[in-house]
Amino acid sequence: MEKRDNSIEINKAEFQKIGYKLIDTISEFLVDISDKPVTTSKSPKELQKILGNLSLPENGTSAEALLESTSKLVLDHSLFNGHPKFFGFITSSAAPIGALADLLASSVNANVGGQILSPIATEIEKQTIKWLAEFIGVSSNYGGVLVSGGNMANFTAFLAARTAKAPKKIKEEGLSNSNNKLITYCSKSTHTWIDKAAILFGHGSNSVRWIPTDASNKMDNEVLEQTIKDDLKQGHQPFMVVGTAGDVSTGVIDNLETIATISKKYNLWFHIDGAYGIPAAIIPELKVLFKGVKEADSIALDPHKWLYSPLEAGCTLVKNPKHLIDTYSSHPEYYNFSLTEEGGSLNYFEYGLQNSRGFRALKVWLALQQIGSNGYIKLIREDIELSKYFYALAAQHNELEPITQNLSITTLRYIPENLAIKDEQKETYLNNLNEELVTVLQGGGELFLSNAIVAKKYCLRTCIVNFRTTKKDIEECITIIVNQGRKTHQKLLDKPL
Ligand SMILES: *Cc1c(COP(=O)(O)O)cnc(C)c1O
Repeated sequence: MEKRDNSIEINKAEFQKIGYKLIDTISEFLVDISDKPVTTSKSPKELQKILGNLSLPENGTSAEALLESTSKLVLDHSLFNGHPKFFGFITSSAAPIGALADLLASSVNANVGGQILSPIATEIEKQTIKWLAEFIGVSSNYGGVLVSGGNMANFTAFLAARTAKAPKKIKEEGLSNSNNKLITYCSKSTHTWIDKAAILFGHGSNSVRWIPTDASNKMDNEVLEQTIKDDLKQGHQPFMVVGTAGDVSTGVIDNLETIATISKKYNLWFHIDGAYGIPAAIIPELKVLFKGVKEADSIALDPHKWLYSPLEAGCTLVKNPKHLIDTYSSHPEYYNFSLTEEGGSLNYFEYGLQNSRGFRALKVWLALQQIGSNGYIKLIREDIELSKYFYALAAQHNELEPITQNLSITTLRYIPENLAIKDEQKETYLNNLNEELVTVLQGGGELFLSNAIVAKKYCLRTCIVNFRTTKKDIEECITIIVNQGRKTHQKLLDKPL
């Protein structure tokens, strides 16, 4: 058979040789991951030097040589969120089946924007969406779409909410035709996506009402209702309320049921940002925390967090998927796709912002089957128990003060013994000390955590979405934090003023 001479094809024997070698390297990496430093000690400057300041290559290089040098480069100088002592932000250890799924998905290279371009991939994404709805305990009639992450999942829902609740001609006329300001409500601990959405979609950041939280860090729903009333009196147009199911700082879940009632009363779209916490709704004894989920008009969740999917995988679920079609569907003449679901055809480009789309459903779909709902219940429950263990060990230690514990997030601070500073000065010193301690710990490579500010206290924050973490890791982390806390305190004391 005639073949075109080209530098891009890799023949079968070579593909096998370098592919098997890569798989060997990755298997070794996964086995040894806990023995490595959590992150590289190299600065951006040093990394640039290692990379070399080369120009765009004019001529090609063999794939084998490239993969060999690049595996080393990446495995020697990365931060490993799959390390059992990684607890930073909300980034999980990735299920290894996801890496294999990505390889398979890229090999087929399905374009899951149109059904005709991705026959089985579209069906797999549909099934994944249905399973995710079942996972969090809402009706499997919810429809939706996979996106790159939590921000995109929330944006996708935001625009659907606006189409559903704003004046009818907004799609054609835009915001300028609307006399009254479209207002969004959320608690002050809502993730920054809401600001981005308000700016991106032309509402302006002043259109977001940041409702104060009560003592337990939940949105104060009395203030919520009063603020809605005040806005109506002013002639504004409230359109959407956001409840958070697991806030990024401390993991608290808003009182979703009350928010649902208020939303219904004022005919507002009820959106839940469950990017981090909503998978915990699968745990029978925690269901009570998520009461009201079934009322949501839309929900954002993040399989690349607590479902352990590799990045990137977010998901928007909508109670009535017609709102996605209303918002995102248009029919240019160069698309001859069939436009209804009759005969089972669904084109995902009509469900969200993306046009061409990758087969990200595969990694999520495979993990859901490899682990199963019982497996997830066990893993998520254990993450929460480990987080509680962190809190308990901090409580037992003289030099640690536990601050909060919700879902799998614990916040705490280091407090030196015999600290001879009083009152306000003491709080300022502890904030400086703990801020410096976070920086020292993040650079040290022994563990990785991030920070939270709780009631003006600068805290160390650990979020366990990590199936590799054990009790022993937590015990060792307590020792590491205290040792580094002592050193950092000494360093600050020695520092000339
Ligand atoms: C992580 C998170 C986001 C942002 O999600 P990305 O996947 O980082 O885009 C938004 N909201 C909440 C509550 C989150 O936990």
